[in-house]
Amino acid sequence: MAEDAPRASNFIRKIIDQDLASGKHHSVHTRFPPEPNGYLHIGHAKSIVLNFGIAEDYDGQCNLRFDDTNPLKESVEYINSIKRDVQWLGYEWQGKPRFSSDYFSALHGFAIELIEKGLAYVDFSDQDSMRTMRGTLTEKGTNSPYRETPVAENLQHFSDMTAGKYKEGECSLRAKIDMSSPFMCMRDPVIYRVRHVHHHQTGDTWCVYPMYDFTHCISDALEGITHSLCTLEFQDNRRLYDWVLNNISIDCHPQQIEFSRLNLEYTVMSKRKLNELVTEGHVEGWNDPRMPTIAGLRRRGYTPTSIREFAHRIGVTKMDNQVEMGILEACIRDDLNENAPRAMAVLDPIKVVIENFAEGSSETLQAPNHPNNPDMGTREVPFTRELYIEREDFRESANKKFKRLVLGKEVRLRNAYVIKAERFDTDADGNVTTVYCSYDADTLGKDPADGRKVKGVIHWVSAEHGVPAEIRLYDRLFQVANPAAEDVFADALNPDSLQIVQGVVEPSLAKAEAEAGFQFERTGYFCVDSEFAAQGKLVFNRTVGLRDSWAKMEQAGDA
Ligand code: ATP
Ligand code: MG
Repeated sequence: MAEDAPRASNFIRKIIDQDLASGKHHSVHTRFPPEPNGYLHIGHAKSIVLNFGIAEDYDGQCNLRFDDTNPLKESVEYINSIKRDVQWLGYEWQGKPRFSSDYFSALHGFAIELIEKGLAYVDFSDQDSMRTMRGTLTEKGTNSPYRETPVAENLQHFSDMTAGKYKEGECSLRAKIDMSSPFMCMRDPVIYRVRHVHHHQTGDTWCVYPMYDFTHCISDALEGITHSLCTLEFQDNRRLYDWVLNNISIDCHPQQIEFSRLNLEYTVMSKRKLNELVTEGHVEGWNDPRMPTIAGLRRRGYTPTSIREFAHRIGVTKMDNQVEMGILEACIRDDLNENAPRAMAVLDPIKVVIENFAEGSSETLQAPNHPNNPDMGTREVPFTRELYIEREDFRESANKKFKRLVLGKEVRLRNAYVIKAERFDTDADGNVTTVYCSYDADTLGKDPADGRKVKGVIHWVSAEHGVPAEIRLYDRLFQVANPAAEDVFADALNPDSLQIVQGVVEPSLAKAEAEAGFQFERTGYFCVDSEFAAQGKLVFNRTVGLRDSWAKMEQAGDA
């Protein structure tokens, strides 16, 4: 189970506190009810942390329930990915995963109960007339000609529907509520429809499937859920939730409570749109490191702790808003700054030759894995005559602000010696290829003996022992803050969201395991890409930069 510090209260926890204090409930039972029609995203993580977190904090239970009433869009791949993601986030559901389809027989029975009570009828109106009769937000609806069909006939029709005698769209079962209700969802909503499709759990047993609103409340009640937490768009539907439970023979009546969904800037959060990104090939798949899916964030190098922390930081309210990407990024940066081992990697290498270091020899240096945490130990870093440094870390001349390597000046190599740039070579285009340096053998782990001050520190990798690696630098997937509002949202994609460079990493990283996260000193946080690791190829994903470069650009008015 995930263990986080005790959390600030929110309006939902206050309701639960009251229910426990008043004796309305003696324990708390929540559920997380995804529809298996896509991978989970960071918005779902908010709901997962809320539901499982409440169950944990109140010593209660949380069910995982697949809301699988729409077999056409659902698949076992999605079911498996959802289980994997929930567990990875650090949560365990109560008992076995549940499925709404586990209750298809019970639901069918309750539908018959409603028909028997004169509270449901089979409607043979076509789609267009149904739409017209429904009315609008400002105009009442009108009653269907099938609304007064006698109970016995309705029972027969529903039985025929169930037996497969009708085609899709030919008829549906509707709850008989109120065609003049100000709430559209109460205007005789469809509760069962004909669908001649195979279901991933129930096979070909059924050709009628219950609608979400009818299914959800009954599934909650059958599982003994106490508090059914959902997003704000279901606020009106709460009337229907309560109506169904009030009109069938069931003892349990969970309380539906709505909270606002998470919207995150520079990305989209609907499974339909995410699916479009995948099927249209804008990304590598659901787990592309640029995707806001749990699988994508995981592959990008986000940790379960950072995602739970994010959910805690944004809190739970009834206010709709758009959360800045910087808040999510700050969570992973804080986690990795504290917990990720340091390593050295050069992303845009130029060669350094230490001319007074013996050719062919090598010295093994010890480097701390974390500057503030000796418990994380040290690692061996080979130092050789030829090294790589970053191209941007050398200049022929520069002012004092440039605390790196300048011709004729000194700089410290991280975890190693002070070197001085003596001369350099360029290629035909004038690009620096090699910098020739001397090193001061008396500066390992100490300042120069004569009191010279060397301010700058740069990272490096031994040319002989360094390991080539592909390094993937990610940026925001979209270039506008609210891509969902664009007419063609794919047009808002950031064409530079992925830049691939060939770098060199220190040899200790050759054995790094899939998903392992590191701070590449002075460069950012990176992790071993799991997909490529499985193919035996060393690829690192940039999880996030060391600082929030977007915030800086925005302040400067550049973004
Ligand atoms: P989408 O619009 O992405 O398809 P959905 O609401 O249809 O989302 P479900 O699989 O039905 O997706 O969602 C499972 C649970 O997660 C629901 O309780 C839902 O309210 C919650 N949830 C989905 N998206 C968000 C979000 N952006 N923020 C918070 N909770 C969410
Ligand atoms: Mg849904």
